[in-house]
Amino acid sequence: MQIIFATANRNKLREIEDILREFDVKAISMKDAGIDLDIEENGTTFLENAAIKAQAVAAAVAAKSSAEPTAASAMSETIVLADDSGLEIDYLNKEPGIYSSRYMGEGTSYHIKNQNLIDRLAGVPDEQRTARFVCAMAAVLPDGQLITVRECMEGRIAYEAKGTNGFGYDPIFFLPDYGQTSSELPAQEKNKISHRGKALRAIKKQLESYL
Ligand code: IMP
Repeated sequence: MQIIFATANRNKLREIEDILREFDVKAISMKDAGIDLDIEENGTTFLENAAIKAQAVAAAVAAKSSAEPTAASAMSETIVLADDSGLEIDYLNKEPGIYSSRYMGEGTSYHIKNQNLIDRLAGVPDEQRTARFVCAMAAVLPDGQLITVRECMEGRIAYEAKGTNGFGYDPIFFLPDYGQTSSELPAQEKNKISHRGKALRAIKKQLESYL
């Protein structure tokens, strides 16, 4: 059995490999599978977007299999996995949400995006600074069946950016239980509690009977 992960992001693929290590499966990227797709994420929820990505890649795998007979048997042994994630800030009506990577424009640095969100929450007290990272994951099985999960990591928007680990909005995501931002946590600690780590473990559980 092989798993194609619908991402060009090497870090995400490494996380998947770590969590799936105990199974006899090979996790490969879309690129390694010879699939080059620019998928429009036009869903209205994280779950919809994850499903759109997984189904688009599964359709491309199927098209490739019918065009290349040698790829046909591989297809019957392929699970396609995709994720969609982002930050929801309650005070901002769950912005930036599904637009997290596009917030203020794809090319805008996270230094600027993070400062902008801190500024938009100026004067807002602790109890109204609640936020969460969300990760939806979708898997398309060899028979076309779709499985989805959605997991969160709860926290608050910090008053200033802190930390050098992680990426994206981590420097402004304060974890009250740890007294630090998710950017101050070592990667392994973050994986244990993160939205993506939880979603991967949840979907792994659901896939166990197929692996
Ligand atoms: P995706 O690659 O379409 O799922 O976009 C996810 C976006 O959400 C990223 O570009 C980040 O802006 C944000 N994001 C998701 N997960 C995290 C995280 O663990 N830390 C920081 N930012 C995250």
